[in-house]
Amino acid sequence: MALVNENFLNLQTNYLFVDIAKKVKVFKTTNPKADIIRMGIGDVTQPLAQACIEAMKKAVEEMGHKETFRGYGPEQGYDFLQEAIIKNDFAPRGIKFDSSEIFISDGAKSDIGNIGDILGHDNLFGLTDPVYPVYIDSNVMAGRAGSYQEDGLWNNVHYMPCNAENNFIPQIPNKRLDFIYLCFPNNPTGTVINRKELTKWVDYALANDCLILYDAAYEAFIQDPEIPHSIYEIKGAKKCAIEFHSYSKTAGFTGVRCGYTVIPKEVKALTSNGEKIALNPLWNRRQSTKFNGTSYITQRGAEAIYSEDGKKQVKATIDYYLNNAKLLRDALKSLNIQCYGGENAPYIWFKTPNGESSWKFFEKMLYEIHVVTTPGVGFGPSGEGYIRLTAFGQLEDCEEAVRRLKHWLR
Ligand code: PLP
Repeated sequence: MALVNENFLNLQTNYLFVDIAKKVKVFKTTNPKADIIRMGIGDVTQPLAQACIEAMKKAVEEMGHKETFRGYGPEQGYDFLQEAIIKNDFAPRGIKFDSSEIFISDGAKSDIGNIGDILGHDNLFGLTDPVYPVYIDSNVMAGRAGSYQEDGLWNNVHYMPCNAENNFIPQIPNKRLDFIYLCFPNNPTGTVINRKELTKWVDYALANDCLILYDAAYEAFIQDPEIPHSIYEIKGAKKCAIEFHSYSKTAGFTGVRCGYTVIPKEVKALTSNGEKIALNPLWNRRQSTKFNGTSYITQRGAEAIYSEDGKKQVKATIDYYLNNAKLLRDALKSLNIQCYGGENAPYIWFKTPNGESSWKFFEKMLYEIHVVTTPGVGFGPSGEGYIRLTAFGQLEDCEEAVRRLKHWLR
């Protein structure tokens, strides 16, 4: 009989959204008339940009004709999309890439989860707390995280707490790590990192031969010119960083599925006998073997994000969400509740009044004003005492949530 990968047995069930759903369901059953506003889960609500729809319709039509039909595509992605990415996401920022350094994916989660395939088992890695759970779980599956402890942490993971006290900027480790995950704009806190702080991380990585896995899934929300959209805006980052991008929140592709990963040719890691090996060809090989590529239709849709109309339409959607975020932030501030994020990100992270626990305040908001949020502690122990709100809802719902919040807390 086959043996299982027992690392999977070590995974902790992430009850967060299950527990939230259960509590909401019970409340709804006992209060059937309650008008519940959902500001918990990070899925988008606005439809796809028209430019993307038209491009995908055209691509579907092409698939219906012998002359223009496409079968298996390149696993790395079509060059039309790689070139659009280089031209629009990097060239204007003075960053040059070859198309072989851009790998089109079916979204950032897959690549973030799979990147560990090309990294050795015995790496010591670090991540922030609170954190996007995929960084941890994918390493638990690979047997890299060690064992789970009572404090909710894994013993082989270097945690970097992010809270109001350190302005949500993780502290540079006082020891060598082999790789680290950074995510800015951050999920769940909605906070960002400026050039000066990010430069410290790149310098640390270069000095310590550390690989940075940089999650830029929310970069399109950045408004402040001082905030880098890409880690490659920082000198030296091409030698030490892999960057993940997503069209999910940018252009409403959560259901369509497309993103990309940048692996510069210069990024290297060590073999056990000390030889430095480029990671780009390893990932290329990994993708060619295990990934079929993103569909032609989807990639044509993603390409349209970079058309003139596409850019305008996507910007309008992002502005819509950021306006929601502003409404929520302003309301919290007017109630003297300390809140973070929401200016360059679709998430707002706030401190519960009177130091209440995340779950306690989550329940109060649900039971008393019928607004569903996410308890911060669900993203890691340092999230205790915080609540996450998403700005991905409908404007009318945000306005109503603000009205209820103000009425309730005044
Ligand atoms: N990275 C972060 C920080 C996210 O919050 C998400 C999705 O919520 C992803 C990556 C995954 O994005 P995608 O939908 O492209 O897989």
